[in-house]
Amino acid sequence: MDHPLRALQRVLEHEAALYGVYLPLGVAEEAPVFAEPETRADLPTDPPARAKQAPPAQQKTPLAEAEPSAEAKPLPPVFQEATVDPMANLDLFGQELDPSQDPSLSPWERMEALIPKDSPLHAMTTLEQVRDYVNDTVLVPIDEARLNAVMGVGDPNADLVIIGEAPGADEDRTGEPFTGRAGQLLNKILAAIHFERQDVYITNILKSRPPNNRDPVPAEVEAHIPILYKQLALIKPRIILCVGKTAGNSLLGRRSSLGALRDKFHDYYGLPLMVTYHPAALLRNSQWKRPTWEDMKLLRTRYDQLVKT
Ligand code: URA
Repeated sequence: MDHPLRALQRVLEHEAALYGVYLPLGVAEEAPVFAEPETRADLPTDPPARAKQAPPAQQKTPLAEAEPSAEAKPLPPVFQEATVDPMANLDLFGQELDPSQDPSLSPWERMEALIPKDSPLHAMTTLEQVRDYVNDTVLVPIDEARLNAVMGVGDPNADLVIIGEAPGADEDRTGEPFTGRAGQLLNKILAAIHFERQDVYITNILKSRPPNNRDPVPAEVEAHIPILYKQLALIKPRIILCVGKTAGNSLLGRRSSLGALRDKFHDYYGLPLMVTYHPAALLRNSQWKRPTWEDMKLLRTRYDQLVKT
């Protein structure tokens, strides 16, 4: 005859096969070694033969001393909900996304986001308000020395915005960009691709004339370029043309030669931006007229594709 303990072991092994529970002899009071969670769908709902005993009621540990359970442990920051600002756009690491780099925003929203947070420009909703601000504000010393601020001219809803460097003596006197000899040539270039001056919007990086037409210094560009961002955010063009490498490099944040900048479209916060020779440079060097013409044909083709769709 079988030994009674052998018979009992067979019963337990049978049970283990059925319920996934195996209690080796002599450890009946310990937790089952291979027990699966009892909620598994493929397990019977009846309690197994040896139902788990409820653990003896324990003295509650004061909260502060309580060892956090695995579930209660705080999640790593990367998985935590934003608690600061529910509207903040956060990256995977909980850092606020730079909205100018957020491709889900429109190009013009991204340009607005380039303006320093504390700038009064954010509150402005019309080009007239921006013009008044430019006229009344001294941001850098050249703003005090100017005869007139030179804000911009043309269609306030233009699909094409043309950006030069800074006003010269003629523009300082008239308050309008590109009115001197370079401006006359710009008009002819525009006419060659079937634009009137009033069809587009023309402006500059700087709104004040640097003395003796010297190049803009970085502090002047930094102080004035938010005005241009605001103009672009309000006008909402579909395409941008920069004339001259100072304008191109200032917008694109580069220090490239004109040759490296031209003959292609740059992605400017989601808008195509072309850089070509400054008309003043063409007055000095006529060999640059041919590449300028090539650039302008590319510009017109892209404009037509964008504006007719
Ligand atoms: N050159 C520029 O860059 N802008 C003007 O407005 C005039 C000349």
